[in-house]
Amino acid sequence: MKTRIKKIRVKKNFFWRRLILISLIIGSSILTYTLLSKRNQQELFGQAQYPIQMPLNTFSSEVLNQTLPFQTEAPVNSISFNAPSNFAGTVVHDIKLPKTEKYVALTFDDGPWPNTTDQILKILRQNHIKATFFMIGQNVKAYPVQAKNVLKDGHVIGNHTWHHWYMHMNPQLAASEIESTADIIYKTTGAKTTLFRPPGGILNNGLVDYAKNQNHSIILWSADSEDYRISSASTLIQRVMKVAPGGIVLMHDGGGNRSHTVTALPQIISKLRKKGYKFVTVPELLELQNKQQTPTAATN
Ligand SMILES: [Zn+2]
Repeated sequence: MKTRIKKIRVKKNFFWRRLILISLIIGSSILTYTLLSKRNQQELFGQAQYPIQMPLNTFSSEVLNQTLPFQTEAPVNSISFNAPSNFAGTVVHDIKLPKTEKYVALTFDDGPWPNTTDQILKILRQNHIKATFFMIGQNVKAYPVQAKNVLKDGHVIGNHTWHHWYMHMNPQLAASEIESTADIIYKTTGAKTTLFRPPGGILNNGLVDYAKNQNHSIILWSADSEDYRISSASTLIQRVMKVAPGGIVLMHDGGGNRSHTVTALPQIISKLRKKGYKFVTVPELLELQNKQQTPTAATN
């Protein structure tokens, strides 16, 4: 009798031990799975500071290039446009170059735009010039083909906000204006950019505060063509010709009738060339300033 009770107890103990062991295995499996999937989520989405989720943005360009080969339809030809790191969070009007170092950067704002963006691209292509285009988010959405053409031709893209508003903006609205534009540029062309130009060159309405916080470079200009108000190509050319070495020229490929800009551009290019100027993109121009500051450059 005693041995029977003992056997039953042993069986009962064995049963409970097995139950505890199985529970432990299941429990630890669930815990491991939860931890792993949480880590994966963090890797995919990063520490998003802005509600728009751009999972691919968190990958490095190397990873993107490896996993997503070039396609014309999708934003997979990952490319980043950045100023040299010492220009992060700074405001740039131009750079100081010796008079003999005749470099200028042509910039085009408020596009992409039907007809004029492609006409300007054609002129730049014929002259083997790379320029910088500060795009408006809602125009990238409306004219994606023109936006892609800018990138296809090897030009640099900058962020010029979604609506081109001048009013004062709180940090949330400023973030939305800049990040929604970054998002549409990326989704349309595959390009990321930390070059930012505030509409109207306004520095104190909240946009630049946000852009600086994000370590964007604030790119203004030193020669304004005033093509948004000037109605003759010759006046426009005269204004641009005031540019000095290291200067940034402001023109517009979008936002209205830009036929005068299209007419003036070939003459602007040939006149500047005759004066000995070479054309570079904004990041290239900023690199030139860094080269000037190297010890070898200083002794020359
Ligand atoms: Zn503008």
